[in-house]
Amino acid sequence: MTLNEYNFAGKKAIVRVDFNTPLDENGHITDDTRIRGALPTLKKILNDGGAIILMSHMGKPKGKVTAKYSLSQIVDAVSEALGVKVQFVNDCMKAQAEAAALKAGEVLMLENLRFYPEEEGKPVGIEKEDPSYEEAKKAMKASQKEFAKTLASYADCYVNDAFGTAHRKHASTAVIADYFDADNKMLGLLMEKEVEAVNNVLNNIRRPFTAIMGGSKVSTKIGIIENLMNKVDNLILCGGMTYTFMKAQGGEIGSSICEDDKLELAREIIAEAKAKGVNLVLACDSVIADNFSNDAKTDIAPSNAIPTGWQGMDAGPESRKAFAEAIRDAKTILWNGPAGVFEFDNFAAGSKAVAEAIAEATTNGAYSLIGGGDSVACVNKFGMADKVSYISTGGGALLEAIEGKILPGIAAIKGE
Ligand code: AMP
Repeated sequence: MTLNEYNFAGKKAIVRVDFNTPLDENGHITDDTRIRGALPTLKKILNDGGAIILMSHMGKPKGKVTAKYSLSQIVDAVSEALGVKVQFVNDCMKAQAEAAALKAGEVLMLENLRFYPEEEGKPVGIEKEDPSYEEAKKAMKASQKEFAKTLASYADCYVNDAFGTAHRKHASTAVIADYFDADNKMLGLLMEKEVEAVNNVLNNIRRPFTAIMGGSKVSTKIGIIENLMNKVDNLILCGGMTYTFMKAQGGEIGSSICEDDKLELAREIIAEAKAKGVNLVLACDSVIADNFSNDAKTDIAPSNAIPTGWQGMDAGPESRKAFAEAIRDAKTILWNGPAGVFEFDNFAAGSKAVAEAIAEATTNGAYSLIGGGDSVACVNKFGMADKVSYISTGGGALLEAIEGKILPGIAAIKGE
């Protein structure tokens, strides 16, 4: 069942949203992207004549009631965004009466699901090494089912629109789906867009396909690199991981960031790219600095000949040209992770060059997907958010999807 096919008239929908919005110390929302992201789904339900029960987590209260993570702080903002006065229940397990009284066009928000350990389903106060851990885990799984069943009892249908937590098998993201038949559970519109975006870069590939993987370490990106190796034409590996690759090939990298236990892995990636005919593009030169700060003294050096006491902080001018070349003619583009320490303005040129080349290729008809925290921050910093095809809202979830993993939140609905 898809959301647009479903007629919500007279129905109560329990909707898992990601309202884990950042708040300042006074409890004011500093970025309402996540609330705005859920609006198309919520408006469709209300326009059909349905009622909504909203559920979300906020922060990491670890199974305990924690005032600073109370969703009550965002009720007014959600009311304003929706144009409907949102009701609130301060205990997600005690909403039977309020849910039963809910009428068409009304919206009820439940308190933070993670005030209960059952939401995440991990046993509390017991270490994995403890002999009774397995038993505690079993007991927790059983009470997680009860928790999900109670949530399900509030509504006629279930919608999951929280892509950010789709890689978690939690009560509200996956287990709850077992209590609805296939005709009464569906992905929200935001989730649908995310799934389509991932599909565009993993399955509906238009060639050439260029992936740009940056960030600090190769170890955290290896699953994605492995999966992409079978799909891309050009693979740009940039950012801090550059220096692990340079050292692996006998280069001098000064005090650049390096994972010494991943040198063999770097050599394997280079060999695999060669064997598979993937054009692997590494930063041949770097902007180097004499310390890790924006005010450091800078110079340009070959990435494999960085003097002692200096470190590679950003892609150099030749590298930027090579990156742009591999991006400009692409028809499918995926970018995750900055090409340098972009938080410091003096080391943002590499990431900016990547963003600009992606914007240009997108104007020329390419499909471009940007995802994973820092690269999203990059396109925002350079004011290019509206010049790319899609910016994913899910950090970890997107990365797992690109690794080729099935996300529990999606599988629970689609039955895969
Ligand atoms: P990740 O979380 O692995 O995606 O890494 C993102 C971080 O990598 C950003 O905070 C960047 O500042 C950092 N980064 C990028 N290039 C470098 C570099 N050459 N040296 C150190 N850190 C880097």
